[in-house]
Amino acid sequence: MSKSKKLLVIGGCGYIGSHMVKCLLNAGHDVVVLDDLSAGYKENMLGGELVVGDCGDRVLLDRLFSGHHFDGVLHFASLIQVGESVVNPAKYYQCNVAKTLTMIEAMKDHGIGALIFSSTAAVFGEPVYTPINEAHPRQPINPYGMSKHMVETILRDFDRAYGFRSVALRYFNAAGADPEARIGEGHEPETHLIPLALQAALGKRPALKVFGRDYDTPDGTCIRDYIHVDDLADAHLLALEYLWNGGASTVFNLGNGEGFSVQEVLNTIERVTGKPVPAEDAPRREGDPARLVADASTAKLTLGWKPQYADLETIVQHAWQWELKRG
Ligand code: UDP
Repeated sequence: MSKSKKLLVIGGCGYIGSHMVKCLLNAGHDVVVLDDLSAGYKENMLGGELVVGDCGDRVLLDRLFSGHHFDGVLHFASLIQVGESVVNPAKYYQCNVAKTLTMIEAMKDHGIGALIFSSTAAVFGEPVYTPINEAHPRQPINPYGMSKHMVETILRDFDRAYGFRSVALRYFNAAGADPEARIGEGHEPETHLIPLALQAALGKRPALKVFGRDYDTPDGTCIRDYIHVDDLADAHLLALEYLWNGGASTVFNLGNGEGFSVQEVLNTIERVTGKPVPAEDAPRREGDPARLVADASTAKLTLGWKPQYADLETIVQHAWQWELKRG
């Protein structure tokens, strides 16, 4: 393991960011979190120092970057609702692109050269082939995916022009929770399949709506690649180490390489929880491709990344323990 480093985690009070903070602390690193608490919770931080503020506030960034010697920045803070991005693109481009540009420009000006950026499978749009590797065409079909694609492009150009080094990680479906159930998924509003289905099983929500049973898949429901949030965090740490060891700026797709249909997820949840999941059929959700499965072999080869919790049962088990604990 490399010696202790100091990292800024932007959005470290959110779902994936808080698991990242845990991972960095476990590896012996120092962590400062910058979060405006618009979608995150202080209680999600298992350690480190919290600065409450806006990641697009240049004055605050200058103060932070002058006051600390950061060895890298991990940027998780962004808006994530596809549907909202379609009706309010201004909000998405402002938050996900404009603020991020301000932040990376501040990093560049302060000579901080290692950025890990949270990207998404939504940069690909409708898949042309599957599983999806890094070379797959990028044709986002909504402003959310486009905002991440734009930042990836900005990062490519910053590398070419200024030698600014970064790794963009394209998540497929982040899921699961801390195995000790200290932190887990809690979006407001919640739109993700696994937490919604678990809450329906607990009677905390009405029946889960299955968005479409007429897709071209074996059981007609959409297929996704679910990846444990702790495995995602591990990949970020490996990507940082890759940059610290002189690795070139790049992008990696992160998933397990195995697809599960919505129905298979519901069946797994029923097995793990021992409870029926009340569910009803609903029309397709706009912008949902039939099948999104990652080819993550580049990340595995280049970073030596090995997901620890690659089976869906374990992912659901951890999410369930968290759901029971948060009450
Ligand atoms: N889904 C569903 N009902 C819900 C939420 C999600 O049927 O209430 C489906 C959705 O259409 C997709 C899969 O579950 O095929 C995963 O959706 P989620 O929103 O969790 O992640 P996404 O794939 O959109 O990133």
